[in-house]
Amino acid sequence: MSDVSDSFLDRIIQLHRDLGIPDSYRDACKLPLYIEPDDLVDTEPDYYQRPQKLTRAAHEAWLSMSQAARLDGLNLLLISAFRGLDYQRDLIEKKLAQGQQITDILKVIAAPGYSEHHSGRAVDLSTDNCRALEVEFEKTPAYQWLNKRARGFGFTLSFPEDNPYGITYEPWHWCFQV
Ligand SMILES: [Zn+2]
Repeated sequence: MSDVSDSFLDRIIQLHRDLGIPDSYRDACKLPLYIEPDDLVDTEPDYYQRPQKLTRAAHEAWLSMSQAARLDGLNLLLISAFRGLDYQRDLIEKKLAQGQQITDILKVIAAPGYSEHHSGRAVDLSTDNCRALEVEFEKTPAYQWLNKRARGFGFTLSFPEDNPYGITYEPWHWCFQV
């Protein structure tokens, strides 16, 4: 990407080295490099009462979509929205501390810089009576509703089964497309 500054790339490279992510990851990774946006606004707190942010446009689309779902009797719960580079590093460090190998971790978590959550347009969603970030979400009425209606609000499922990015299936992860 031509608009990635050298200092941003230097920061990414340093973060990856600190985590033991091989330099080859950046060439092999099919995900784009995301620059953190500068127009983030506060959303409602997430399910865990943590503050969350999205870009202004993604936030408006999210509000419209969650309200429409509620009118249809469904509760879409926000699990995670914008995540910065440092947050992504912390997620990976936690898994390393649990003894997991970096190659295994990178199958389920993007390296810092490559998570769609850096864009401020991605949301992880759940619903009542469903464990967060589990494939069982696809069995819920909320997921069926998203499948039919999310596109109308600008949200698409980023990582369906057998996606070209090599990321495991994530029925809970939806991204607002600008
Ligand atoms: Zn996600």
